[in-house]
Amino acid sequence: MFQIILPSISGNTYKLLPLPKLMSDLRPNSEIADGIHWIKGMSNSYIVETHDELILIDTGFNKKAKRIMEYIKTELEDRKVSSIFLTHHHTDHVNGAYHLHSIFHPNMFIHELDAPYVTNEKRRPLPNNIVLKPMFLILNPFMKGKAVHALQYVQDKETIGQIQAHFLPGHTPGSLGFLTGKVMFSGDTAVTNKHGDPSLPPKLFTHDMNMTIKSFKKLASMKFDMMLPGHGNPILHDASLRFQDAIQKIER
Ligand SMILES: [Zn+2]
Ligand SMILES: [Zn+2]
Repeated sequence: MFQIILPSISGNTYKLLPLPKLMSDLRPNSEIADGIHWIKGMSNSYIVETHDELILIDTGFNKKAKRIMEYIKTELEDRKVSSIFLTHHHTDHVNGAYHLHSIFHPNMFIHELDAPYVTNEKRRPLPNNIVLKPMFLILNPFMKGKAVHALQYVQDKETIGQIQAHFLPGHTPGSLGFLTGKVMFSGDTAVTNKHGDPSLPPKLFTHDMNMTIKSFKKLASMKFDMMLPGHGNPILHDASLRFQDAIQKIER
């Protein structure tokens, strides 16, 4: 298989596989494509294998961070997580960051606009709903997680090792997508619906829907084969094509 050897963040080399070989069936908590593992919870996390290290996309809640640890122990020879890329500040995506950071001390990347919610300098906005607003007012202090300060900011089009960040503001002010080869980790800017097609995230938990639609269209204009979303099942092939249908629906 065609492989590119590039230096990794820690200076070691790794193999980047531009077109991962698909595994036969799509099961959560397993290797879904060559070197890419899907860990499901309230949100999705993904582990990308490099030559001797692991990259994690989103940590999930603290409880899932512990499941990620177990998965690495049993399935990935207890290898080290060298970097964690956070798609956005929502607690179901970053709550486990403190725990994983205390174990692996990885480089941890996020967009500057979302960082203050992870360092707990800013409070997460409450959903604009008569039932959920008071509920989240009570739950938020328990859900926010311990502050993580060791964050590095990553900007639009910045490449770190084999990951290229794409700024996709809207769902949160600093939402990011991460592209590696033909694989897009779309966070919550594009999730998948019950039919497995790309769709917009729920308005209730979205900072700015018009901005999210612009970012969704930006994703649709890019070329990638696999889309690994923050929620819903991953799309393993022809993801860009399936975006075109989704865009038509939005514009209808
Ligand atoms: Zn979110
Ligand atoms: Zn989410």
